[in-house]
Amino acid sequence: MSDQSATIIRVPPSNCPECGKTTLAVSGSWRTPQPGDANICNGCGCLLIFDAQLHVRRPTAEEAAEVAADGTMMAGVRRIRQVLSYAWQAQAHERN
Ligand SMILES: [Zn+2]
Repeated sequence: MSDQSATIIRVPPSNCPECGKTTLAVSGSWRTPQPGDANICNGCGCLLIFDAQLHVRRPTAEEAAEVAADGTMMAGVRRIRQVLSYAWQAQAHERN
C-alpha cells in the first residue's frame, strides 16, 4: 500500500451548488484535477465537475450520464456517500 490515499491536493475554493459546502481540496488517489474532472461534494455527496478555473459546478446531463456509466467512478461515489452517511449519523448522534 502506498500513502496515496492521504494525498490532499488543493484547488481554488468554490462552493457546492447544492449545499454550499466549500471545496478546498480533493483527496484520494488524485492527480491534480483537470477541467471536466468529476468530484464528489464532501458536504452532500452530489456529483460535481471542475470548470476551467477548477471551481466546482453541477454536471451537465451528458456528464452525469458519463459518470453513471463509469463503474469505477460510481464505486467511488457510493463509497464516499457511505462515509458521509456515517458522518451524518455521528453528527446527529452528537447533537442529541
Ligand atoms: Zn454539496
